[in-house]
Amino acid sequence: MPIEEQLKAERVEVLSGVTVGELADKLGVAGAALVKKLFEMGEMATVQQSLSDETVEIVCEDLGVAVHFLTEEELEFGVEEPEEADKLEARPPVVTVMGHVDHGKTLLLDAIRSTDVISGEAGGITQHIGAYQITKDGRVITFIDTPGHEAFTAMRARGAQVTDVAILVVAANDGVMPQTREAISHAKAAEVPIVVAINKIDVEGADPVKVKTQLTEHDVVAEDFGGDVPMVEVSAKTKQGLEDLLEVVLLQADLLELQANPNKSARGRVVEAHLDRGRGPVATLLVQGGTLKRGDILVAGTADGKIRAMFDEDGNQVQEATPSRPVQVIGLNEVPEAGDEFRVVDAERFARDVAERRSARERRKELADRRPTTLEEFTSAVQAGDKATLNVIIKADVSGSAEALEDALLKLELDEVQVRVVSKGVGAITQGDARLAEASDAIIVAFNVRPGANAREEIDRSGVDVRTYSIIYEAIEDIERAVKGLLAPEFREEVIGEVEVREVFKVPRAGFVFGCMVTRGEVRREAGVRVIREGVVIAEDKMSSLRRFKDDVREVREGFECGIGLEKFQDVKVGDVFEAYETVEVERV
Ligand code: GDP
Ligand code: MG
Repeated sequence: MPIEEQLKAERVEVLSGVTVGELADKLGVAGAALVKKLFEMGEMATVQQSLSDETVEIVCEDLGVAVHFLTEEELEFGVEEPEEADKLEARPPVVTVMGHVDHGKTLLLDAIRSTDVISGEAGGITQHIGAYQITKDGRVITFIDTPGHEAFTAMRARGAQVTDVAILVVAANDGVMPQTREAISHAKAAEVPIVVAINKIDVEGADPVKVKTQLTEHDVVAEDFGGDVPMVEVSAKTKQGLEDLLEVVLLQADLLELQANPNKSARGRVVEAHLDRGRGPVATLLVQGGTLKRGDILVAGTADGKIRAMFDEDGNQVQEATPSRPVQVIGLNEVPEAGDEFRVVDAERFARDVAERRSARERRKELADRRPTTLEEFTSAVQAGDKATLNVIIKADVSGSAEALEDALLKLELDEVQVRVVSKGVGAITQGDARLAEASDAIIVAFNVRPGANAREEIDRSGVDVRTYSIIYEAIEDIERAVKGLLAPEFREEVIGEVEVREVFKVPRAGFVFGCMVTRGEVRREAGVRVIREGVVIAEDKMSSLRRFKDDVREVREGFECGIGLEKFQDVKVGDVFEAYETVEVERV
């Protein structure tokens, strides 16, 4: 019987990562029939195999069946009732400290903690559990104690937004540095308000005005410069200015009117977790809603268990924890991941089931699909009518190009789809750019620049889409097309390989020949060549010769040496990279 005649459902509710067999059940068709159908669509899959969301959508559409992807929460815990306004109570702000290395994040976190009279008086031994609370003028502030934006992005990559206010630490004697800029981008992408701590004000050469001026260039404008970003001069060493900083943080928090309902079972996020030899899995949980109690039954990511004991940051046992309170708990059966959501549930059996199902699903999903957006995927999503924003990170060789590109992209006239520039900058693509792209689901548009070595690894690992251009209007056209859901042009440039220049020879009458090693892909005689120095394109050319030893060759593969001559550009230096590219016809599916 044809699959269409077997169909028993007009609408199915499935989880992301559903297997062929499970989908067939929901549709009311035989597994084999669905396997056959998928095969006809060009998708080879067995009954036990997990399908990507996209495939599920396509096959359901083809069968005329509506599909709804259940969120994990909907499936496991039922549909959530909306929070009732009269049950909400104010909660303390949760603060993360970010900034460039050595600008004083760690010392500042320690200094803030030591100003806390209450924990000081208790005489407890301070412990680093990943977060702590202090009291200032009778009000509580929670600090996430793992500084740096790596922690921040790791959380965000897992869909966790725990930070209410970001303190950006900038050393007054050093000014805005690469990680300062990255931290700004991260905070902005997450729409978290920034408070700037201009640190090391005690040091000779401290120049807070210069720091403010530099920050202005990154759209972080101090109040006394006409902007709305509070900036406080501090010294983590002498503790000067710390009281002011805390006051300003509380003022920012007031503007946010942070609230939560403490009178329900708790949920929140895992801030940190590790395996302790004596106590087993130990996790620091940040309560975001409800009240967490000793004896509660938890699911945290793929872990579950009953809380045997809870501790605060001073190592004291606590019986319960209200919203914004971090506590260290023991009793979980495995180590959850930072950023995982946790929830309190009624029964141990239920917690175990949920955790086990999640583990199984995670394993399957890893196989099915786990890649950030590419421009092509975005185009298909627009065609299907379900993408609203294309996030873009712009990197260019000079700031003029970056700005021109940004202006043009923001000016694109579009109805429902929007382009958002998450960050823009000058110079080679960094590891930080790649991480930001992954965390904010962005593509990187690179104009005359390339990834540095560290960034390369990160890009390969995460599958972030990097689009390189040397003509601005081509970049704009490409993106405009994608955003309008139009297909890519039939021809497109493809990088086929990369060589590193190891030696430069002057050959009588023939000009220069460059001794090279092919480090990626391959080079072919007819390929176009771009000369890249420190991540920036400095010339475009063609080869005048490609040789192995004395012989002219058509191509040279990765791991082999070769001699290359260029038609025009001769000012090549050892360490330069040649990128070989060809124009290829794009296959249309
Ligand atoms: P992080 O890498 O941002 O965590 O920076 P650290 O907190 O480790 O600080 C880097 C160095 O700067 C350390 O030697 C600190 O003692 C020093 N430092 C941090 N803050 C201050 C400050 O306000 N004044 C002075 N003089 N030194 C500081
Ligand atoms: Mg540090």
